Amino acid sequence: MNADTPDLGEFELIRRFFQRRRTQRPELSGVVLGIGDDAAVLALPPDTELVAAVDTLVAGRHFPHGTDARSVGHRALAVNLSDLAAMGATPAWATLALTMPNVNAEWLEGFSAGLFNLADAHNVSLVGGDTTRGPLTISVQVLGHVPRGTALRRSGARAGDLLAVTGTLGDAGAGLKFSVAMPMPETRLAAADLIKRFDYPTPRVLFGIAARGIATAAMDLSDGLIGDLPKLAQASGVAVRVAVEGLPLSDALRTAIPPGEARDLALAAGDDYELLLAVPAIRYPDLKAAADRLNLRLTPIGEFHDGVGVTWTRDGYKFEPGLHGWDHFA
Ligand code: ADP
Ligand code: MG
Repeated sequence: MNADTPDLGEFELIRRFFQRRRTQRPELSGVVLGIGDDAAVLALPPDTELVAAVDTLVAGRHFPHGTDARSVGHRALAVNLSDLAAMGATPAWATLALTMPNVNAEWLEGFSAGLFNLADAHNVSLVGGDTTRGPLTISVQVLGHVPRGTALRRSGARAGDLLAVTGTLGDAGAGLKFSVAMPMPETRLAAADLIKRFDYPTPRVLFGIAARGIATAAMDLSDGLIGDLPKLAQASGVAVRVAVEGLPLSDALRTAIPPGEARDLALAAGDDYELLLAVPAIRYPDLKAAADRLNLRLTPIGEFHDGVGVTWTRDGYKFEPGLHGWDHFA
């Protein structure tokens, strides 16, 4: 975002890029009052609980400076939808706090297109926000709902449950790598796939909803398996064993990255936004059937047992990854 678009004031900007005509009737969207007043008024469906999450993206930290605006808009919402997916919640509304160094209409065009494309795909209404000047920083809050008492938590895994993961791991990490260093010509196609996985993460919203009542615990993978899985095990008060040779790797990752490095990316790289789930072995077929209906890969990668911590094995032997997940304050 370089050139300023001088004539675009704050209110004109909001009207032009973020305040859209109602796409849905209020009875369906739950939006009693949207953008334009001091706050939004929202109506929850009967017998539900509100599920809320917020995530901030800082340029140069969560995405490289100069990232395509459409990708930034998509990511800002996607990472939040992923948190709702991990709770099994149906997303409904979002607010946007946008801090930008300058007002650039072309950038805003791309950003809002990326954001609204994903919002529309999940029937999410943007109902408010805040617009300020400063280093490029985007906070999106999402609000959704679950039938009373049915939210998927991190704390429900029990000894004997299987650990399963959606999709494939390590792709976004490889994509980030390739977006800063050009791949070899023979792997360029695969690299383009991987870059897309980083730029346009797919929150597993429908699968999260389907997993309600089947999975005993869930979380989304934002900081890498090594960083995130211990949080799930600890919250549930159980230990978990994972066979690293069974981690699901995409064809693109296998093509573009040597095997050892691919495994390390699958273990430690962040930004995949896949779901990790605990499920009683007897219910696994139901969870798998739900994934099949959505054309989503689901792979059992380990099992929970009594104890504490995570044990990694490789071809039956204990394995010390010697890597760690992403921690902003480490
Ligand atoms: P206030 O002064 O009450 O904070 P603002 O002048 O900041 O209100 O915003 C006016 C309206 O526009 C409010 O309804 C607010 O929610 C909405 N809004 C402001 N910025 C954004 C944005 N980036 N995206 C969506 N809605 C926004
Ligand atoms: Mg304000």
